[in-house]
Amino acid sequence: MELIRKPHAVCIPLPAQGHINPMLTLAKLLHARGFYITFVHSEFNYHKLLDSASLDSVEDFQFETVSDGLPPDNPRGILDLAALACNLPVHTLDSFRQLIKKLNSSPDLPPVSCIVSDGVMGFTLKVAREFGIPEILFFTASACGFLGYLQFEKLVEKGYFPLKDESYLCNGYLDTTTVEWTPSMGSVRLRDLPTFLRTTDADDILFNYNMESANNAVKTGSLILNTFDELEQEVLDVLKTKFPELYTVGPLPLLRQQICDPKLDSIKSSLWREDEKCLQWLDGKEARSVVYVNYGSLVIMTPKQLHEFAWGLANSNYSFLWVIRPNLVSGGTEVISQEFLDEIKGRGLILDWCPQEKVLSHPSVGVFLTHCGWNSTLESICQGVPIVCWPFFAEQQMNCLYACTQWGIGLEIDVDVERGEVEGLLRELMEGKKGVELREKVLEWKKRAERASRVGGSSYVSFDLLVENLKGGMH
Ligand code: UDP
Repeated sequence: MELIRKPHAVCIPLPAQGHINPMLTLAKLLHARGFYITFVHSEFNYHKLLDSASLDSVEDFQFETVSDGLPPDNPRGILDLAALACNLPVHTLDSFRQLIKKLNSSPDLPPVSCIVSDGVMGFTLKVAREFGIPEILFFTASACGFLGYLQFEKLVEKGYFPLKDESYLCNGYLDTTTVEWTPSMGSVRLRDLPTFLRTTDADDILFNYNMESANNAVKTGSLILNTFDELEQEVLDVLKTKFPELYTVGPLPLLRQQICDPKLDSIKSSLWREDEKCLQWLDGKEARSVVYVNYGSLVIMTPKQLHEFAWGLANSNYSFLWVIRPNLVSGGTEVISQEFLDEIKGRGLILDWCPQEKVLSHPSVGVFLTHCGWNSTLESICQGVPIVCWPFFAEQQMNCLYACTQWGIGLEIDVDVERGEVEGLLRELMEGKKGVELREKVLEWKKRAERASRVGGSSYVSFDLLVENLKGGMH
């Protein structure tokens, strides 16, 4: 097709790893369906990416940047999320406006025909309206996690938020107070809802930012989610009452395999350098004999928690591949002592960052110990690997609840992790009866996910519908 007549989608994720990955996959899928793509990174991440991964140029796929409003020396870790939430709607909004103006005045590019924006970047709708460009929001959380954010307004109305005082955080209040949920679950506890509610401050930035993002989305009436119908049917039925146009296009990694040209794999989105040597190391291990441990891009733990994980892994006697991100521990990783390294010699491999999808698809991996980020949870389902859950924040608690009680694919570790528990749960999953059950379940989910992503499957059909609507200029 002549370039100038191609539909042109501008895709903008929240500048965080767990949001960039699914948005990039969605962009690749749209590219495969004939869209010209402008993918928007923050300036900071763009430069970080140039250091660690490849932004190989593919025809009709370009990268642009916007400011995230934070100073260059800000580490942009979890502790800076509130600052990011303050800056994005001001600085990024302005920067994004300039970008759309530039794209639309470039004679070499097709005019922007739609914006696909991260649901937590809903302020971009303002720019879309100014330029008369249709926009659709993509929430990268699970449907159950997203439904959690939709409860926030009700928590305020019912007086559950803000928490009265600090004691409400630790006296069981979060365990015993419940909100209405779906027909078969009845209700869920406050402790299962996104953790941003755990504050006594009515003006808490992250609570309010997430509440507004979810409410904003409802006003648009349409939504893209990285899930598949069978996995979250009941929650999706609730969401459909609020979103007449609901596109369930997950798991995106499987749809990508179905639809995208593998040459697009050269475009990477890893903010840390992926250490590929673990794949050869896995080659040398027996089938399903390795525990894979990774807490994603934002978790921060204490040295004590790291210590307990370390000795739980060591005492289990299994081989393990453990990703300890450079900024994972507050206060240093000295607990990874020489004594520990001697103990695990030959059976433990510790890395900064790995190619996770490849690791999970390796036949040697038996179990995934994860923080239950939505991408990690889905990627594990795609590969039929059962999980040990150590949810940390945001909607990870809800993903854990569903994984353990609804999907039957996971076992949960207590927040106050102890080595004995780590060892026991790993043993249970690697060799016990429970492990057999969970593996069977996750393999069933894997099959269902594959079915959803094949031609005629629910996610495949939903994606085609999305493409049709985006090409038709939507509403
Ligand atoms: N990831 C990776 N290598 C790592 C750790 C994470 O490639 O060593 C990827 C992982 O595959 C997933 C994303 O980073 O796609 C993390 O997203 P998730 O939603 O699981 O967690 P978050 O980082 O947002 O907490």
